Amino acid sequence: MIPLASNENPLGMSDAARQAAAQALDNAALYPDSSGRGLKLALSSQLDVPAEWITLGSGSCEILTLTAQACVSPGEGVLWSQYGFLVYGQAASLVHARRTVVPARDFGHDLDAMLAAVDDSTRLVFVANPNNPTGTLLDPAQLQDFITRMPAHVTVLLDEAYTEYLTPEQRYDSMAWVRQHPNLIVARTFSKAYGLAGLRIGYGVAQPALSQQLNGVRPRFNVTTPAMAAAQAALADTDFQQRTYELNLSSRTELSRGLRALGLGVLPSAGNFLMVQFPDAPAMHAGLLAQGIEVSALGPYGLTDRLRITTGLPEQNHALLTAVARALQPA
Ligand SMILES: *Cc1c(COP(=O)(O)O)cnc(C)c1O
Repeated sequence: MIPLASNENPLGMSDAARQAAAQALDNAALYPDSSGRGLKLALSSQLDVPAEWITLGSGSCEILTLTAQACVSPGEGVLWSQYGFLVYGQAASLVHARRTVVPARDFGHDLDAMLAAVDDSTRLVFVANPNNPTGTLLDPAQLQDFITRMPAHVTVLLDEAYTEYLTPEQRYDSMAWVRQHPNLIVARTFSKAYGLAGLRIGYGVAQPALSQQLNGVRPRFNVTTPAMAAAQAALADTDFQQRTYELNLSSRTELSRGLRALGLGVLPSAGNFLMVQFPDAPAMHAGLLAQGIEVSALGPYGLTDRLRITTGLPEQNHALLTAVARALQPA
């Protein structure tokens, strides 16, 4: 099966990360370092924030749920955009929150409408940039303005699971925003560009008061020793990061060109995936599966006419395009 459903890195993980994880198995009879010191120091120096501002999670999904647990009581509000990541709804359910889902604009976040929907009982707002599954990207100035205008009783969780895939022109400094705003937390993951999805490790960055709240609800041994070791090695392997970035850029271009040439609607994407419209998306999903290619159906998002396709290796992209062309032909 060619795995193009879950936005994993088609290059796998870096050799340095693999070696570090293997070596860490020597200590796996012992409990992990609950303070995550080594990895936090490495992140701290890369991000230029104090190590105490960092919370490690079992994937960044755990940072999302820990934030909900730390900030939201039953009946209080959690808000996100239509077509926002499914885990936002799960986090809201976990804490029995009132849910507000703000209609999207052009498949992306409508920041003005989201701000207008905040009320006295709203406690948490999720924003994904780029967004999964749509691939949309917000204008940094508008995003910064949104965070600045957010009332102090609301925590903003900025989900940057795909930030490593942004081009130099698209990049912005969210760490500077964290330094300015005590109610902002930025969540990032090692699951996507760093290729460590199976090891489950991500992190959140926030000022000390919010970080302490997160740590107050964090299970003591939520991240494993091999995961932390691999993450630290992955962080240092800039060659692998560059190869990942460049492969995604060329694959995304090649895939969108090929799919558009087949007459399909492809939304521009800032991530390592494309959202594609099909005349019959469920039939295409099944047709690709039958040809050994797994992509993601978007029914849970209400996007029943679209599929999300992860960028792959050149030969995987080629196989995908051939399989799509074949499945489009009337039987
Ligand atoms: C993949 C993803 C995450 C993080 O997943 P983890 O594996 O838990 O780190 C978070 N947010 C979005 C939008 C994602 O697509």
